[in-house]
Amino acid sequence: MLCRIIQRFASGNQERGDRDNMVQDIIRNETFLAEKSEIATKEDLSAATDLLDTLKAYRHRCVGLAANMIGIRKRIIAIRMEDTYLVMLNPEILKKSARTYKTAEGCLSLDGERETLRHDWIEVKFRDMEFKKQRQKFSGLTAQIIQHEIDHCDGILI
Ligand SMILES: [Zn+2]
Repeated sequence: MLCRIIQRFASGNQERGDRDNMVQDIIRNETFLAEKSEIATKEDLSAATDLLDTLKAYRHRCVGLAANMIGIRKRIIAIRMEDTYLVMLNPEILKKSARTYKTAEGCLSLDGERETLRHDWIEVKFRDMEFKKQRQKFSGLTAQIIQHEIDHCDGILI
């Protein structure tokens, strides 16, 4: 979960989202989060919906979520892009810019901010909410969020 911007305005405690029965609690156990997630299938689309609901509930604090953050170890991420949301199942980076930049990110699962390196742009293939194959290029903050969330799928924390 990338909370780089919003976290600055919120206290660091485990705030719960708006209560909605599909909204899940956020996991902060680093041992659990360090495990790699498994490939998602069509059967995981309901989990993807839960993930999206949870991200929407935390929208004021966070711009991205990976499924293991809500206890589901499947390769699913949800990100917010201004006013829209995008859910990706099995996101995979096909190409990335040679150029990287140093930045600091926060994560609701972790305290504070940590430095990391991100690529300027990435090209990603993934399955959408209809489990259709997609391929798309992202840059800027959106690319940064996606890189952060894909790292979660690989058990990597910033
Ligand atoms: Zn995170």
